[in-house]
Amino acid sequence: MEKELSYGSDYKFIPATSIGSGVGISVSPDIYCYTIQIVNIIFVGDPNTNEFVLVDAGMPHSSDEIIRVTEERYGAGAAPKAIILTHGHFDHVGAIVELVQNWEVPVYAHELEIPFLTDKKSYPEPDPTVEGGLVAKMSPLFPTQPINLGNHVAALPADGSIPDMPGFRWIHTPGHSVGHVSFFRDSDRMLIAGDAFITVRQDALFKVMTQEQELNGPPRYLTTDWQEAWNSVRKLEALKPAAAVTGHGLPMSGEALSNGLSRLTKEFDKLAIPDYGKYVDGQLPKPAKIKKGEKQ
Ligand SMILES: [Zn+2]
Ligand SMILES: [Zn+2]
Repeated sequence: MEKELSYGSDYKFIPATSIGSGVGISVSPDIYCYTIQIVNIIFVGDPNTNEFVLVDAGMPHSSDEIIRVTEERYGAGAAPKAIILTHGHFDHVGAIVELVQNWEVPVYAHELEIPFLTDKKSYPEPDPTVEGGLVAKMSPLFPTQPINLGNHVAALPADGSIPDMPGFRWIHTPGHSVGHVSFFRDSDRMLIAGDAFITVRQDALFKVMTQEQELNGPPRYLTTDWQEAWNSVRKLEALKPAAAVTGHGLPMSGEALSNGLSRLTKEFDKLAIPDYGKYVDGQLPKPAKIKKGEKQ
């Protein structure tokens, strides 16, 4: 059965890092954010129990580190009940094949993200021409080919609940990818936003390295529908989150978050949408008629 699990043919180590790499931060007693190079993985669940899930699965070749961090927090041999994905970009599923093989746990993602996780569709190519810094320029290196999790991946339940993540609900926040989701807990207004918005300028290498906090729209080089991305930020802002853990950058809370989110919502066109790029209206012809994820 495990033979069917595989990465895409362009799977590779990506040499990018930040000063946050290898650092973990407790956002609340049961939410722990840990940075793998330039991306966050999030543990949700009381560390005194074995009831927890892992949100997202890190960078390529990081499974040993993820297993070590899991056991440091939850005890030797501990495994999450499930892996829940915000979306399937390479930096959020980089270690997932080894993790699923090791832990034998199910993976859940939005139904529109499943084709990218079952070898059916490639993601659109990242845009190195987009307005932005060095990370955007190196983005052609990034894997876009579909991985194959076979029958280990299933769609999130239509009622908004999340298996093994009680108290949270998923919210469809497309734009950065078609099946992108964020997770919200109404009781304490905790938000796990994935890449719907992030707290670092992900396209600028220097800011990624230093992790300077700055609330931003989704990573530019991989975002293909900016109007949808704007709507998604509006949806999340309306929830008035008390704290947010994002796919990239440090967790944010309080006024920094509320002010940053309200400004981003109002001025998304200025702050987030790049001035030019192949997925932006205007400047260059938008390849909107190419179906998302189709091999080009
Ligand atoms: Zn992404
Ligand atoms: Zn990402």
